[in-house]
Amino acid sequence: MNISDRDRVQLWSRAGSRCSYSYRGKKCNAKLLTYVDGRLTATGDECYIVGETPNDPRYVDAFPKRITYYNSILLCKEHHRMVDSEPEVYTVKVLHEMKDEHEAAVEKESRKDAHTPPARTNDDELLKAIRRAQK
Ligand SMILES: [Zn+2]
Repeated sequence: MNISDRDRVQLWSRAGSRCSYSYRGKKCNAKLLTYVDGRLTATGDECYIVGETPNDPRYVDAFPKRITYYNSILLCKEHHRMVDSEPEVYTVKVLHEMKDEHEAAVEKESRKDAHTPPARTNDDELLKAIRRAQK
């Protein structure tokens, strides 16, 4: 997926680098970044919510925000295959709800540990926090 680096960082950090899949009480939450032979390796997929081309699942014509953080969800390979093979179950609405729920859980978890920056900090928030700490 050719999303910008900014959108990519946002997608991975807000998802806690974990699979966002949850449906009817089943959650995945698999870690999608691991060290393989000492090298940090991504094992998850950045997936389109609204499909990229007319042959892709959940395609909508004339959709302007196709290659963005907004239209992406982070999933493990198994759940990427699952959601794309059952687009009548995993609709655009269901995937957005799944993503929002997962990101909210990651955010809540990150706030438990004061030494971990919250997943949803943006650059301005981070800069303000650092400046406050320097006074
Ligand atoms: Zn998964």
